[in-house]
Amino acid sequence: MLIRAAVIDAPNNAFIIQELALEPPGPGEVLVRMAGTGVCHSDLIVRDAWYPVPFPVVLGHEGAGVVEAVGNEVTEVSPGDHVVLSFDSCGSCTRCRTGAPAYCAEFLTHNFGCDRPDGSVSLRRGPSRVNGFFFGQSSFATHALAPRRSVVKIPADLPLALMGPLGCGVQTGTCAVLKALRCEAGSRIAVFGSGSVGCSAVMAAVVAGCSTIAVVGRNKHRLRLAEELGATHVADAGSANVTESLRSISGGMGFDYSIEATGDPGLLRAAVDVLHTRGTCGVIGAARPGIEVALEMSGLMFGRRLQGIVEGDSVPQVDIPLIAGLHQKGLLPFDRMITTYPFEAINEAAQDVTAGKCVKPVLLFQE
Ligand SMILES: [Zn+2]
Ligand SMILES: [Zn+2]
Repeated sequence: MLIRAAVIDAPNNAFIIQELALEPPGPGEVLVRMAGTGVCHSDLIVRDAWYPVPFPVVLGHEGAGVVEAVGNEVTEVSPGDHVVLSFDSCGSCTRCRTGAPAYCAEFLTHNFGCDRPDGSVSLRRGPSRVNGFFFGQSSFATHALAPRRSVVKIPADLPLALMGPLGCGVQTGTCAVLKALRCEAGSRIAVFGSGSVGCSAVMAAVVAGCSTIAVVGRNKHRLRLAEELGATHVADAGSANVTESLRSISGGMGFDYSIEATGDPGLLRAAVDVLHTRGTCGVIGAARPGIEVALEMSGLMFGRRLQGIVEGDSVPQVDIPLIAGLHQKGLLPFDRMITTYPFEAINEAAQDVTAGKCVKPVLLFQE
């Protein structure tokens, strides 16, 4: 079938919306008509070639839409179902079999390989191949093919077009707090980063009953939003004494948990330095490969831990419905972070989020 997709032809190029041909769903694949798709920081750093992905490529990995058709072997969803698309995994490695698909041994192949696992082509521009299957979806397009493990059914009474961020950014911040770190009621948490992942962590910290929720960021509007979503304190990431201000916010004790969601090694250092004894720092922010961080070795003593976290340790089929349920109860109002744009304005949405003019852009597709 013919679809319209936002193609990136080479690193750092703009998105160009073009007509492409999409294969019908093969065994284990689902064809989804997109209602909305979020723009995630990872789409933009892959566009700019921080991570090696083959070009030309269709990115996008926070898709939400309606199932149009399913291939052989797909029993989880049927045409007409409302679904969110999340990351893909192999399903058969040790990590996948023990409930940790975000640490799948084949994670890079399945999410950054931009190809069907068997190597066959799914997207073409005229006679030439365009790479797809980014994060098991390539959802910057009117239609996407997704492997069954990327597809999560959600209740039909949710506003479908806005649900895409559940597939990555919201899932990452929320599950980091509720699932990976398991912050206890009454604990203190410091969140470094006030973008969509940081704000999702704030909302989850409220759900968890954290007593102190401090957010470190550079953008005043985003920090104000973090306060509206439940942050008890905010601090300027640019200030020279951010570590001291956080220490004083924590009553001099330090934090039980911190989350580094910016990818900045200086802030990772601060996120470790502000921990109380036995405190854990969750490392979420994507940094360029090769970036190193300096930590004071003696500071890591007394039970302090550093924990890398991908996608919040989530199992999409389990955790996305759980987060959607919290949202339905009004406990995770992630829609407050969203600014909508028509799909055709994808470059403007990317510029606005990079400039800090919005927190979570969601591209809408016309019926
Ligand atoms: Zn696996
Ligand atoms: Zn993402």
